[in-house]
Amino acid sequence: MYEVKEICRNGESLPLTTDGSLRIVFIGTGSAFAKRRRQSNILVIQGNHHVLIDCGTQGPLALNDLGLSVLDVRCYHPTHSHADHIGGLEEVALMNRYTPNISKPDMIILRDYQDILWSKSLAGGCEYCEANQGRPLQLTDFFNILRPKNIEIEGRKFWAYKHGPIELVIMRTRHFPDTAISVDESQWCSGIFINRRVWISGDTMFDADYPIRFANLAEVMFHDTQLFFGGVHASYQELMTLPEDVRKKMYLYHYGDNWDKPETWAAGSDKYTGDPVKDGFLGWTEQRTAYDFY
Ligand SMILES: [Zn+2]
Repeated sequence: MYEVKEICRNGESLPLTTDGSLRIVFIGTGSAFAKRRRQSNILVIQGNHHVLIDCGTQGPLALNDLGLSVLDVRCYHPTHSHADHIGGLEEVALMNRYTPNISKPDMIILRDYQDILWSKSLAGGCEYCEANQGRPLQLTDFFNILRPKNIEIEGRKFWAYKHGPIELVIMRTRHFPDTAISVDESQWCSGIFINRRVWISGDTMFDADYPIRFANLAEVMFHDTQLFFGGVHASYQELMTLPEDVRKKMYLYHYGDNWDKPETWAAGSDKYTGDPVKDGFLGWTEQRTAYDFY
């Protein structure tokens, strides 16, 4: 069972521990360019372990909204190289390296993606930030790397990492380019299945098989969405074609700033209202909210 609770409404800081239950907090729920609800980065907390899934350009600000800083978060898991997911990692790397008396944070990352993240994104701001160091810095100078292992679930191959009581199952998604017809043709991007209870799509184009495959296994699902058709995310319109029993365990996140003005994006449809509850979903994923699993 799970409960939805309001948190940090009076400015108090979010504790990075729980009494043993699994807690999911979206520090932002908006799209890449959202200005109202920050970007879709997600804190997973259980017992005295936690992981921040993605830290975008607004990630450090979104943490600050909850009374936290990039020095408090000790474990990161980046899903892909768009700036709303990794744009805050340079701040994480440099703040941790140049703040006295603090150890390197952990990063859960596959080998395939580690080189891309470093060489195409983080190296630019981090590699030569010390004079006379003798060699360029590497990702491992900033983070302890934690490596997921190969696993199989129902005959399909995934990766998994167990961080204390938190198990992250990692799966590739088909996100970009928009012409990719398989994950093999796509740039690196991944979704997450947490403790085999909570499924988070990660950024993905609409791919009905993907949520349907996990619908039987997951207690609650979070799917990214966009409020228009086309591009590199699953549109609301496409998600409406999922079976009713899949939609009814699904919250939507990664929505644009006009989510609450359905007249601007849902008015032309006779198939949906733009109110996700009326349309058979669990609702919009909310900020300052904990999804607690017991
Ligand atoms: Zn993306």
